[in-house]
Amino acid sequence: MASSLIRGRYLLSAADDSGPIDTLHDAAVYQEDGVIVDVGAFEELRGRYNPDSELGGANYAIIPGLVNSHHHGRGVTTLQMGTCDDCLETWILAGWGRRPYDHYLMTLYTAINLLESGTTTVMYNHPQTAAATLREDVDAVLRGFLDAGMRVAFSCYLRNQNRVVYADDDDFLAGLPTDLASDVRRYLAASHMSDDDYFAFCDEMYRQYHDDGSGRVRVLLSPANAQWNSDDFLLRTKAQAARWQTGIHMHLVESPYQKDYGIRTWGKTPVEHLQDLEFLGPEVSFAHAVWLTDRDIDILADAGATVCHNASSNLRLKNGIAPVNPMLARGVNVAMGTDSTAINDDDDLIQEMRLVSKLHRQPGLTEPAITSGQVLGMATANAAAPTGFSREIGALRPGRRADLVLIRLDELSDPYLDDDVPPVEVILGRARSRDIAATVVDGEALIRDGQHQRVNKSDVARELREQLARPVEPETLSVRRMAAQLSPYVERFYLDHAPAMGNPHYVYNSRT
Ligand SMILES: [Zn+2]
Repeated sequence: MASSLIRGRYLLSAADDSGPIDTLHDAAVYQEDGVIVDVGAFEELRGRYNPDSELGGANYAIIPGLVNSHHHGRGVTTLQMGTCDDCLETWILAGWGRRPYDHYLMTLYTAINLLESGTTTVMYNHPQTAAATLREDVDAVLRGFLDAGMRVAFSCYLRNQNRVVYADDDDFLAGLPTDLASDVRRYLAASHMSDDDYFAFCDEMYRQYHDDGSGRVRVLLSPANAQWNSDDFLLRTKAQAARWQTGIHMHLVESPYQKDYGIRTWGKTPVEHLQDLEFLGPEVSFAHAVWLTDRDIDILADAGATVCHNASSNLRLKNGIAPVNPMLARGVNVAMGTDSTAINDDDDLIQEMRLVSKLHRQPGLTEPAITSGQVLGMATANAAAPTGFSREIGALRPGRRADLVLIRLDELSDPYLDDDVPPVEVILGRARSRDIAATVVDGEALIRDGQHQRVNKSDVARELREQLARPVEPETLSVRRMAAQLSPYVERFYLDHAPAMGNPHYVYNSRT
């Protein structure tokens, strides 16, 4: 039985968005076999237990392992793979021409990056890759996460309608030149899956991986988004999730065009539509949810649903700033993720917390400003809620898994740090991933001083470098040519469907 005592000058054992965070001074976590046995004053715990090893010390801070609640696993980023930031809808089209890659190596590389910046659990949402290799791709992804030691809430999304623009595929393709339309049909067919095949695939994944004995995988269901899935598909997802007692993770109102789709299709917002379908509930988490009305926020709060805020991605893909302050004020469970599109083009959740904490500071003395404790809660307890691990992670309490981050305070407090500064402000205001001394999952320090202890990151990077040094595949080049031909038609569609922007939740400046 492996046990350890992990000591910190500050121990931020739990944070949520409702109140003060639990902070202990000169404290420790004692864990046995990956489970937290005790949390308390260091001297007391040292006298009480006889650990196999000790970690940390008098000049460290300990926080719960961070949870990235929305991610697509692209360690070599979309930008690196050739898709520059753009408006979401045209960015998605440009992404059609992205090169295929080795899913195992890419996941290992991604997971190491995540762990290096303090993330111990990820909500991984697999994109709709070629149907012929989907099972193989997904096995490689999960093998990658498990080999890296990460905890993963896995889902794979399917778009079963409106795959080119936010309108019926046949209607849209009928307006294209014949050759282009048949090329697009052929492209879409490669990743097409029937609803039955999709649910059979999820069933296989659930049986094989959910509770697979590692304790590190949960399998969730994933419609892609309200405009990308039929009502039948959504309801089937809801029923299946109820049978399995698992979660549903999906994108929602990421852009103003997605909100507009709801208005012109159902005469109501996508959130209202989902409510009328009786789809909402505490098992459902929505990535983005930027374009919400006040009523939408109340509906989500009443339903107990989670919103996964992706601040960097929303800025990068021209989707704006989600109304996080009103959501928190009305009791929505708001989590945080990077959507594989963080502001520095990395997956650094510490930096993402800093961005979130600055972004939601509305101008004016009495206007709302998110607190550092709320932000830490969004990246820990709130983000753990929809993963299927909610009772096991997200806080450092006896009985929970020993997932934590040990942060070195040397540089953060040099040459001086006033004792009056609350520890959470020190972490949120100054910590960077280079200050992480260890990232611990199930009591095992997977990262120590910037090095993954099981996998050599340089080897993984070298293999990726070698694979990607090969010339771009002819099939990829032809998809890129097709996407370039298609682009003016897609743009025309969205110009013809300009959304109403409405009144903003936040006012950041004024022109009159
Ligand atoms: Zn996403």
